[in-house]
Amino acid sequence: MAEVTWRSVAPQVYVRRHEELNLNCGLVLGSERALLVDTRSYHQHGMELLESVRELTDLEIVVVNTHAHYDHCFGNSAFRDSQIYAHAGMLDDLIATAEDQRSQIVHHLRATDREEMAQGFEATEIVPPFYLVDQDTEIDLGGRRVTLLYAGRGHTDHDLAVAVPDAGVVFAGDLVEEGADPHMEDCYPQEWAATLLALLAKPSAEGADIWVPGHGDVVDAAYVRQQAALLSTLAARLAEALAGGAAAVDTLAHAGRGLGLQDETLRDAAVRALELRR
Ligand SMILES: [Zn+2]
Repeated sequence: MAEVTWRSVAPQVYVRRHEELNLNCGLVLGSERALLVDTRSYHQHGMELLESVRELTDLEIVVVNTHAHYDHCFGNSAFRDSQIYAHAGMLDDLIATAEDQRSQIVHHLRATDREEMAQGFEATEIVPPFYLVDQDTEIDLGGRRVTLLYAGRGHTDHDLAVAVPDAGVVFAGDLVEEGADPHMEDCYPQEWAATLLALLAKPSAEGADIWVPGHGDVVDAAYVRQQAALLSTLAARLAEALAGGAAAVDTLAHAGRGLGLQDETLRDAAVRALELRR
């Protein structure tokens, strides 16, 4: 197993890739504050992440949650002394879904014989973000600014990306996925492509060529455009099938075949397309 470590992707900009889910966390150092992108899955993971940040810097830590999925924010309990930023919709989603997410993951962990981790999840306090934004917002880290970007609905209805314009880096959360299909369970399949294109066109992101996905390898802007094109094609196929009267999940999912996406991904997209049509 490769050692889990902060890897520099630009001056004073780091990515830490975790074996669990291939999750990426980000760290941006200014002269006065450090910005951490996402906090991992539960309290112990968050504490371990905090220790790793402290090996690099003693600066005050500001946290951004890209969205409300547990693997990006349940580690917040280790950062309760920090300002925690998120999109306003993230808080609503977290309040509505946190206990359901927790019971699903605990069930899965017990089914796969990971009792210790299951207990860790059960004991984790859900710490919500309390600095909420609903439009693009600059944060001054001292000597450098980062921008929190909201470009529309996609992976969820509240995905926040973080741009570091002086370094040409964007932390995209799960709006971009590498090494696996885009995760569609809570997504807006008809809007996701447009959201990615809007994100690519934001002034603080348009020159960026280092894109850090929520999971997987760091990619470039061309990869993000390619993912937008794939999602755009999927959206067109879904729209065509819906217009043709498709009303069953299987029929809709079938419309997306041949694009290189897994059957499970297409089913999730189809379920969402039908839910959102109502
Ligand atoms: Zn997610």
